[in-house]
Amino acid sequence: VKNGVNSVMSRIKSKNTKPEITVRKHLFSKGFRYRIHYSKLPGNPDIALPRYKTAIMVNGCFWHAHKNCKLNRLPKKNLEYWEPKIRKNVERDGRIKNEIEKSGWNLIVVWECELKTNTSQQTLEKIVSSLQLRVL
Ligand SMILES: [Zn+2]
Repeated sequence: VKNGVNSVMSRIKSKNTKPEITVRKHLFSKGFRYRIHYSKLPGNPDIALPRYKTAIMVNGCFWHAHKNCKLNRLPKKNLEYWEPKIRKNVERDGRIKNEIEKSGWNLIVVWECELKTNTSQQTLEKIVSSLQLRVL
């Protein structure tokens, strides 16, 4: 794989992505305090709210193979490179979800496409209401 492709994809995977920051800003504005890239849980969730025992993963649709999503299309080029790589990510996501939930935490998965302008308000409200249900 050429460098160009690799650097595009590493940017997609990188931390502090725009969707991640959208979620963080919203939580903050609602008075929630959180940790980011929380290393005390498997998979270092993007956002963690220990008081609510809730972790939030903000997933890129391509990188985590969002089902039935337009943004999730494997490139035709280098398919033999991407297919196993993405499959590994999905397997890892499943393992991490199990481990987090086994330890009594709630895991919310938010998809990049759910944070597009027309749906983001609804998505953000959903996150807040599931947090409000977790008051310990
Ligand atoms: Zn999606």
